[in-house]
Amino acid sequence: MRIHDTRRITIIGGGMSGALLSILLAQRGFEAELFERAPDPRLVPARTSGPDILSLGERGRYALRLAGLEDAVGKLVTAMRGRMIHDRRGARTLQPYGVHDYEALYSIRRERLIHCLLDAAEASGKVRIHFGQQLQAIDWDSNTLSLDDAGDQRFEVLFGTDGAGSRVRRSMLQAARLQIDQDLLDAGYKQFTMPAAADGTPPFDPHALHVWPRGGYMMVAMPDTDGSFSAMLFLPRRGDHRMPWGFAELDSWTRQQAFMAFNLPDAAARIPDLEAEFRDNPVGQMGTIRCSHWHVGGLGLLIGDAAHTIVPFHGQGVNAAFEDCTTLMEIVDGGADDWGTAFEHLERARKKDAEAIADMALDAFRTMRDSVRHREFMLRKALERELELRHPGVFIPRYSLVMFHRIPYAEAYRRGKIQAAILDELLEGKERLTEVDLRHAAELVGERLTATV
Ligand SMILES: Cc1cc2nc3c(=O)[nH]c(=O)nc-3n(C[C@H](O)[C@H](O)[C@H](O)COP(=O)(O)OP(=O)(O)OC[C@H]3O[C@@H](n4cnc5c(N)ncnc54)[C@H](O)[C@@H]3O)c2cc1C
Repeated sequence: MRIHDTRRITIIGGGMSGALLSILLAQRGFEAELFERAPDPRLVPARTSGPDILSLGERGRYALRLAGLEDAVGKLVTAMRGRMIHDRRGARTLQPYGVHDYEALYSIRRERLIHCLLDAAEASGKVRIHFGQQLQAIDWDSNTLSLDDAGDQRFEVLFGTDGAGSRVRRSMLQAARLQIDQDLLDAGYKQFTMPAAADGTPPFDPHALHVWPRGGYMMVAMPDTDGSFSAMLFLPRRGDHRMPWGFAELDSWTRQQAFMAFNLPDAAARIPDLEAEFRDNPVGQMGTIRCSHWHVGGLGLLIGDAAHTIVPFHGQGVNAAFEDCTTLMEIVDGGADDWGTAFEHLERARKKDAEAIADMALDAFRTMRDSVRHREFMLRKALERELELRHPGVFIPRYSLVMFHRIPYAEAYRRGKIQAAILDELLEGKERLTEVDLRHAAELVGERLTATV
């Protein structure tokens, strides 16, 4: 179908990417019908799966700027300038994210971000949101979708922004001969609340992301603007010979209490409802989903988690989902004539990026869980900083390329591999930064990076 002949666009899933996409389409004059299975979260507090607090990097913030929401969202975020590592004795070490002021992450309560997006979508006057409408199935031959309550509806073009468990994706299995590769992580997560003191004092430094790496498992906590923190305990779902404690083994308050008091005492002391939260909060699942392709001709396209679910350890799921939307808009604005061509173009542009961020997110899991507390990791970080200062714009740590820049993920991955090889070579047998041959470092950067940046 020709893009400019489209009268009405259908979006399934009013989460992060569905809401943002509807705003960006409305800006371009399109009318959209958005179907969301849950009730309106602005009226009924939603107990959705997924994290209570999210971190946004530059990719997510850029999309919000394009949607005209920079100021509205700006009031809801807290800047985090580094990772605060907590050891078992309660000692803390701050690892700054970078050497520049812009290298900060922004934490935001998920429900506030979604309220803001839904308000803006409705305020456009072009988006009609239908809450409590769950997609059941799609017949791609007759362009018909079936909803729980509203029955069958015809559509012209449809976007599947219905998240990791996407039914739109399932409906494409036959119609688009879709192949899906799913890999569930053997760790799960449980959320806890660390409130601010009665006078509003936060339990920890609110301008950092707090991490308790323990080797095999970890806890992470992010600040909210009211001084509270939301924490997540990432633990194997079931223990084994290497790591005897998993969620399955923490099956009584006695065990939960002992586990927390021994391994995470300073975190446990800030969770007043620890027992109730252990009992009531579910263990969430995480995994990676890769699809052979993302569209059914020019009729339908998957976006965000529906197309590429990743593990959350790089904090990039929303960022990547938003970037799908902004890339699609660039393609539309660039004069694509029909949806089929635009979808093909998007898939070509983004699929290798989705593969790259999926792999980097798995790497980040291992790094955060295990290595951030090791001396070698600290030395590597120190050398990265030194090389970044000496070779600005040429040597940029991979973490920064992903979080604070918008270069394609695949390119960040590629450059990261070259940089990792340089660091390996320079650090071989070294214990201190002063032992590193910085003249040789300059030669390596010149030879291997300058030409490719
Ligand atoms: C523990 C954890 C921590 C995370 N932390 C971060 C982070 O710090 N930063 C970050 O960028 N990302 C993070 N993520 C990832 C992020 O939550 C997801 O990538 C993001 O929400 C994906 O957006 P989406 O629009 O694709 O899907 P979602 O936001 O999941 O939205 C999907 C929507 O579709 C609706 N829906 C589903 N099925 C149907 C149906 N059949 N009919 C109608 N509606 C339907 C759902 O109700 C939902 O509203 C984290 C994820 C986890 C699990």
